[in-house]
Amino acid sequence: MDYYAGVDLGATNVRAAVATDDGTTVGIDRRPTPRGPTGIDVTEGVLRTVRRACSDAGIAPESIVAAGIGSIGPFDLAEGTVIDPANLPDSIDRIPLTGPVEKLIDSDEVHLHNDTTAGVIGERFHADRNPDDMVYITISSGIGAGVCCDGDIMGGWDGNAGEVGHYLVDPRERLTCGCGHDGHWEAYCSGNGIPNYTRLLAEDDPTITTDLPLEDPDFTAKDVFDFAGEDELADYVIEQLAHWNAIGVTNVIHSFAPIVVSFGGAVALHNEELVVDAIRDRVSEMVMTNMPEIRVTDLGDDVVLEGALASALTGGTGDRRRL
Ligand SMILES: [Zn+2]
Repeated sequence: MDYYAGVDLGATNVRAAVATDDGTTVGIDRRPTPRGPTGIDVTEGVLRTVRRACSDAGIAPESIVAAGIGSIGPFDLAEGTVIDPANLPDSIDRIPLTGPVEKLIDSDEVHLHNDTTAGVIGERFHADRNPDDMVYITISSGIGAGVCCDGDIMGGWDGNAGEVGHYLVDPRERLTCGCGHDGHWEAYCSGNGIPNYTRLLAEDDPTITTDLPLEDPDFTAKDVFDFAGEDELADYVIEQLAHWNAIGVTNVIHSFAPIVVSFGGAVALHNEELVVDAIRDRVSEMVMTNMPEIRVTDLGDDVVLEGALASALTGGTGDRRRL
């Protein structure tokens, strides 16, 4: 029998799954992402996780005919390597992935994607009608999109297509993004951006009352959503987030004409009503083309792992006709 493997390499955890050719998962493993000291240690952690998923499935790694990897970026795609990942220690400069996984499974069919691209592959594969046009948007510590347009998974020459979190949404450029530029979508609406944005709005209008712990170093986006409906500032922030999110999503829809826009990432998954429903309401008033279905992924925290597996099963496409 042929087996397939999916790998989700995140800054916190690395996970691997092994499936049969009909997509049934038969082995799984998960462990913390090694914190270095070098990128090779991360590579070895990935290989260990794949080996353990194989032994969980009762197979040898060489029985795997194809693998998909959904990973934190950025990449040197030609090398199949992650370069200077943002959320791992600075000593980790290169994490070779494609080559070592090819060697482990003794197959050159290894597909490397960034996590949002793996997300759209998984969403496409598991969607009812297996649509050729869909977008997956993650709202988590950052914001990004994976795009499938006319049946093609979009990568761009350097693999950086879909960096929609760096759409310039605020022409006043009031907040600086983690990337160093001003006015970007994720500077306002990502999990990392929301605390700064909340403080900015509080400074703008000191008459707004709040019990949010704005000066506490542990103040997070979750606090804002936890205070929804009970705190004047929290409610105002959530309304403004919907404003910027709707601008970002409207730009995505006008760019790619998706039939489905699917959301994942902790901020969207944990606040479907306050974030995703609010986007749907506003976007329907803002698009001049066809309004897509706007939904939350059914795959939850597994969306990248499932996407990596779907990539392995379908030659990197999520197209079920290629099973
Ligand atoms: Zn940016």
